[in-house]
Amino acid sequence: MTGSVRTRFAPSPTGELHIGGLRTALFQWAFVQANGGKLILRIEDTDQSRYVEGSIENIIEGLRWLGIEWDEGPDVGGPHGPYIQSERLAKYQTVAGELRARDRAYRCFCSSERLSQLRKDQQKDGLSPGYDGRCRAIPPIQAEERALTEPSVLRFRMDRTGVTNFHDLIRGDVTFQNSLQDDFVIIKTDGFPTYHLAMLVDDHDMEITHVIRAEEWLASGPKHLQLYDAMGWSPPHFAHLPLLVDAQGRKLSKRFGDVSALDYRDRGYLPEAMLNFLTFLGWSLDDKTTHITGDELKQAFTLDRVVPNPAFFDVERLDALNGHYIRSLNPEPWSKNVAEWLSRDLPTDVPRPLDSALVSALAPLLQERITRLDEVATLSRFMFGDRPDYPMDLLVERIDGDSELAALTLDEALSALGDIEPLDWGLGSVEAAIRGLQDRLDLKLRKFVSVLYVAIMGAPRGIPLFDSIALLGREEALIRLQGARSKLP
Ligand code: GLU
Repeated sequence: MTGSVRTRFAPSPTGELHIGGLRTALFQWAFVQANGGKLILRIEDTDQSRYVEGSIENIIEGLRWLGIEWDEGPDVGGPHGPYIQSERLAKYQTVAGELRARDRAYRCFCSSERLSQLRKDQQKDGLSPGYDGRCRAIPPIQAEERALTEPSVLRFRMDRTGVTNFHDLIRGDVTFQNSLQDDFVIIKTDGFPTYHLAMLVDDHDMEITHVIRAEEWLASGPKHLQLYDAMGWSPPHFAHLPLLVDAQGRKLSKRFGDVSALDYRDRGYLPEAMLNFLTFLGWSLDDKTTHITGDELKQAFTLDRVVPNPAFFDVERLDALNGHYIRSLNPEPWSKNVAEWLSRDLPTDVPRPLDSALVSALAPLLQERITRLDEVATLSRFMFGDRPDYPMDLLVERIDGDSELAALTLDEALSALGDIEPLDWGLGSVEAAIRGLQDRLDLKLRKFVSVLYVAIMGAPRGIPLFDSIALLGREEALIRLQGARSKLP
């Protein structure tokens, strides 16, 4: 392909960036990168009633989080601006005027009451819903006169004979019956264009060569092709991406889980993991590659390896990838992450200061164990002087409810750790003392270790125990074991 490829990400600012939208943008970005093309960010805000303050910022932040960059857009400018549709209204009016001049658009005065009654009647008669064409035949001069006093919309005059065929780069040849189409609105009563008109005018003006978008727009293909034809413009290539679905095969939506892209960031997913995860929702490199970086993706991406069938948004897979990327971070960036998440999530009144020596010592312990960054503070809170309340049921839970054995474990641990001279305190001596309990208790470590975990951390499992006890310090460790012991008979 030549360097003239241009595609666009065209979100509507109706709320937070949807995770499916982020997958669309990722594929678009990868496609232009692989082909030396340009990505355009365009804000489709012609439905003013659905506009949500702050969405544009949220969308831009979400894209940047994943490392997606664009060449033209509202924030970076470019030769085809403005890139916000509400600032381009005159262009849509001009094209609408042209369509009327060509008799492909007409004014419609039908009230919303009439239209909803029409829909109800069609439903009752088992007909597919659509405008019945009542205003089609009003002579233009008469329509202009009525428009002086009556509200009206502008409708596109669809040719309802024959079929519309087009080639989708993912789905192959698709065919739609034109008899199922209706005359759709292109300019609303408020003078704003609908999506169909505005999108098409902009794609033409912005010299878009490839429209890559969600599957839900596939059925609008006939509308768009007839509009292109009516204007005498040649259409771009189309590629409709597969749906994202949950385990039950339902389209991802707010009702069934988290769909805001930045919520994933705020719950502690790394952008590398999210990029890797989204990449394989509908695309594959070959039949074995499961890990990929942004740099590799932008070399390798092709649309012909996108499949049309729905992709399962498998959060367990995302978790596994996140764990993988967490464990592959170098010590320095990893410690930086730990410090950031501790200062974000630790209560401000913890007794022990968040000093860098403690953070660097904790970081490798956390790195082995966590899946998401929002576990950092939960798992290490105990290290900052926050003593657990040693709940009795947790102390005995994994030792078969045997409170005598739990008490004995704590007594033996107190004595073994208490025997370590303060100057000898460290990982080696702590580990030896606790391993030594196996003989003293005649029990395997894994049988009694949960008692010590609960005493030290307040939970039956967590970050590595020997290191944690060593880091906590002799005095504090003994106080905690004692505290737990006092809860038992
Ligand atoms: N504004 C549309 C949306 O948010 C864009 C669809 C398209 O890419 O054409 O779904």
